[in-house]
Amino acid sequence: MEIICVSPADDTLAFAADELRDYLGRMLPTDAALSVALRVEPAPGNDRFAVDLSPDHGAITGSSPRAVLLGAYDALRRLGCRFLAPGRDSEIVPRIGPEALRLRYEKTAAFYHRGVCIEGADSRENILDFIDWLPKTGYNAFFLQFKTPVVFLERWYRHLNNPSLPPEPMPAPEAVMAEAEAAIARRGLMLHKVGHGWTGQVLGYDANSWDADSRPLAEDKRAMAAEIGGVRGLFGGVPANTNLCLADPDARERFAALVTDYARENPGVDYLHIWLADAFNNICECSACRRTTLSDQYVALLDDIDRRLTAEGLDTKLVFLLYQELLWPPKKERLAHPDRFALMFAPISRTFARSYDAAQVPPIPPYVRNRITLPGDLGENLAFLRGWQAVFDGDSFVYDYPLGRAHYGDLGYVHMARIIHGDTQRLRELGLNGTVSCQELRAGMPNFLPNYVMGRALFDPEEDLDGLLEEYFSAAYGAGAPQALSFLSELSELSDCDYVNGKGPRRDPELAGRMDRAAALCRAFAAAPPAGCGPVQAGFWDRLGYHARYAGRLAAALAALARGDTDAAASLWQELTSFIGANEPRYQPWLDVYRVLDVTKNYTGL
Ligand SMILES: [Zn+2]
Repeated sequence: MEIICVSPADDTLAFAADELRDYLGRMLPTDAALSVALRVEPAPGNDRFAVDLSPDHGAITGSSPRAVLLGAYDALRRLGCRFLAPGRDSEIVPRIGPEALRLRYEKTAAFYHRGVCIEGADSRENILDFIDWLPKTGYNAFFLQFKTPVVFLERWYRHLNNPSLPPEPMPAPEAVMAEAEAAIARRGLMLHKVGHGWTGQVLGYDANSWDADSRPLAEDKRAMAAEIGGVRGLFGGVPANTNLCLADPDARERFAALVTDYARENPGVDYLHIWLADAFNNICECSACRRTTLSDQYVALLDDIDRRLTAEGLDTKLVFLLYQELLWPPKKERLAHPDRFALMFAPISRTFARSYDAAQVPPIPPYVRNRITLPGDLGENLAFLRGWQAVFDGDSFVYDYPLGRAHYGDLGYVHMARIIHGDTQRLRELGLNGTVSCQELRAGMPNFLPNYVMGRALFDPEEDLDGLLEEYFSAAYGAGAPQALSFLSELSELSDCDYVNGKGPRRDPELAGRMDRAAALCRAFAAAPPAGCGPVQAGFWDRLGYHARYAGRLAAALAALARGDTDAAASLWQELTSFIGANEPRYQPWLDVYRVLDVTKNYTGL
């Protein structure tokens, strides 16, 4: 077999050739005589590829080297490969005869932005496995938050929230970052970076996390910090949560210079995120700031950064964020060069009971400085998006959180897959060109179905959900797929994502009844792997059995909380904590113990 790169030498094209050679080599008989040409026909816009394969020769052509790689994985999928989760040990690679090689089709991704942003507690392997999985599932971007992902690595290697594991040595974050960025570049994925942290940096802190910093704010920086209640200082001691006085010329100058320096020193970054503090109702109240709005100040700052990048010949895209105070559109300021920017809409307080609905959009509520409440429902969130779209018509995407907290409330993951699919189908109505999912990388208990559906739906929202469910479940659970799907669907129907995410009253007798039923369902469930299933399916069945034990304990704790029995809830939560803590080594890539305990404690109230 030979795989020939027809286009000029390129790392991503060479990687696509290696991948195709490896998978087809395992799939086809050793004497198969096949020659495939990989070719780039450069075109702007969304990823696009054409596959033309016959038993002895063929070609994969793409609009970029990345699109060729996406085409190669898509062709493998059509030939029966199933990439069910991050990690190459969760892939199904069938044996086929050369006569199966009859494919001729073209695909163009429905959306430009199809990415995932790192959250949770992650090992080096978790990050690299996830990046490897992205293009196999149709994604084309990864967001390494902050300047280095140290906070996510620390949570794992120190085993925060898991006292049963002693802290272990952590690889150097810079080295992990370099490896991750090399893996991203090798696949031609778009790299997003930073986000929060700039405000803390302006004030002289590293700000690579949401941690408090015990060092006092330097006197020569004090005038740059937001004035709140007459005082300028760190907000709650946390640099990343502290806003600036954007009327202060030094603060603006330092901010713009920091971003420009970073963009110059990091030419591999495609999308640089310029966010303010990660807290709200803590913006500057000085008389100069009061004469305008935070969004107007933000737009003026972005314009200044754009001018500096242009002067230096840098084409880095800048991402601005609609979030908290910045949900209110600017009154006067407008971006001079919209092409430099992408609008990122982050409806962090949305419900996950329903998908987006563009039909119900109320007016934007009046803005009152440091007295805002976050929009609760989707319609209110969308009102803000419409407001910004009226003043900015450039590139845009949604930054959403179905797998960032709320997923722990869906005990079957079938509901969340459905919400994600529905959301993605409505993105165009919202005028958004894709999604970056802010999420745990280890969102895989009981399986990676929601992440799988997200990647596939972002590439092609017309692929129907039932087909994807069938594809995923039959590959993961073999002949037992109907039993697995019925158990998980039933758990999903009993579940409430919003409750676990901290929305709604904590006392909820109706939900308590549902959680009792979910716990009973889990207790009664016996994972029965079908005869003759291979090692990949055996793994999925093993985890389904474990999931029933984990989800049963979580449901019991939630039932007690919703009944108002907080003592019982606390002791059941402790039991859950010990159980998943002790089992984390075995199920590490699938369940993020740090994060599920963080969410159920700090959001759910367990
Ligand atoms: Zn001010």
